Amino acid sequence: NPASLVAVMMNLGEMVTATQSVSDETLQLLAGEMNYTVQIVSPEEEDRELLESFDLEFGEDEGDEEDLVVRPPVVTVMGHVDHGKTRLLDAIRKTNVIAGEAGGITQHIGAYQVATEVNEEERKITFIDTPGHEAFTAMRARGARSTDIAILVVAANDGVMPQTVEALNHAKAADVPIVVAVNKIDVEGADPTKVRGQLTEYGLVAEEYGGDTMFVDISAKQGLHIDSLLEAVVLTADASLDLRANPTQDAQGISIESRLDRGRGAVATVLVQRGTLRVGDTMVVGDAYGRVRAMLDDNGNNVAEAGPSTPVQVLGLTNVPGAGDNFIVVDEDRTARQIAEKRAARERNAAFAKRTRRVSLEDLDKVLKAGEIQQLNLIIKGDASGSVEALESSLLQLDVGEEVDIRVLHRGVGAVTESDIDLAMGSDAIVIGFNVRAAGRAAQMAEREGVDVRYYSVIYQAIEEIEAALKGMLKPEY
Ligand code: GDP
Repeated sequence: NPASLVAVMMNLGEMVTATQSVSDETLQLLAGEMNYTVQIVSPEEEDRELLESFDLEFGEDEGDEEDLVVRPPVVTVMGHVDHGKTRLLDAIRKTNVIAGEAGGITQHIGAYQVATEVNEEERKITFIDTPGHEAFTAMRARGARSTDIAILVVAANDGVMPQTVEALNHAKAADVPIVVAVNKIDVEGADPTKVRGQLTEYGLVAEEYGGDTMFVDISAKQGLHIDSLLEAVVLTADASLDLRANPTQDAQGISIESRLDRGRGAVATVLVQRGTLRVGDTMVVGDAYGRVRAMLDDNGNNVAEAGPSTPVQVLGLTNVPGAGDNFIVVDEDRTARQIAEKRAARERNAAFAKRTRRVSLEDLDKVLKAGEIQQLNLIIKGDASGSVEALESSLLQLDVGEEVDIRVLHRGVGAVTESDIDLAMGSDAIVIGFNVRAAGRAAQMAEREGVDVRYYSVIYQAIEEIEAALKGMLKPEY
């Protein structure tokens, strides 16, 4: 019973209360003391086991070699703010409507497909239509691999900037090949050669300099050389990736974005990664499930099926899945419901376990939604004043809407200390350690008190995570 567990813990020198969460290590220590073995299972493993119990597997192999067909590369656009990511995504979309599908109403569904001719062959490319990197990371954070190729946009008048470097490091870490779009070549003072020179320092050497990265000079504004850029994407995919999938299987993939529509109910954009998704299929997406009632492509046309690398809007789900949730087609409605219900129960348990905790990034959106807080308090510690300032100013520039305020209560150079944790406890703040760790007993104190301390070594990543946490709240407007 709880009281005796507390007693055992006290004997181990850990002061805890009966309702407190403890760390994995503490739990293992406690179990060892009582002759139990504790198995720590990650949410991903747990989910794998859940699917396995229904004889299902996400990311199952593609089956027979002879059934494989080439699938379009899935591309994300990354780069420094204001270098032209949004403009480029618009330009690509505008200049390139797939033949025969013109005339439909262009819809923003979170991803779109275009066609381009390479070596006299029509080739399709799928773009994740979220400028920046949210799509990229939100999904990767959940272990879903969403992107095959990254287009790194660098403004030729501005050159390589901090977020350019972070974006490319990000893509490299994920092992995603990069095509460089040197943008704004129409602007006076544009120096595409300089961009090439700068990027060699980061291991991106242009083909014309003997490297293996394709650089294309473009103007997103004037629509210049967009075709060459698309060709470069296809050529890079052909050269470094074996993008094939089996369309004869049941579909699997990821959700990209979703919302609740007044008239149509839950509307989710999913990217089919393998197999073919059909109207009438029963699918489970995160903790949502349902039978596909209708599918719309990125031009707003009804479609009956969607093959590998195709983004479609799906109607018919019971509720709204999260971005980055895996989807999987199953044979029976009952199976889908059971999987969804188990996942929902798990979410509730996790939320319950965290209830006694303080504000953390993971449940930030829930806390904000519940109106418990209206502002996100931060304490930033870093290894140098420059990086602390850079991080702070980027965070304060985050566009988080009117509902939330970001406040930096304290900033400083050096390790995260007990006094930082103390401040965080008193003001429900999240502590960010940039290239520094917790000193002395600060880590234990944070653990004990449930203060969320986040460590980063890349500014980009810190911004992304916090933005994603806030966005979680800003997404559904209903
Ligand atoms: P993002 O922050 O990377 O998404 O950048 P945007 O796409 O919003 O572009 C930032 C600004 O640069 C906007 O005012 C664009 O109109 C402008 N811009 C983007 N591409 C070009 C280009 O090729 N030439 C010129 N002159 N301006 C551009």
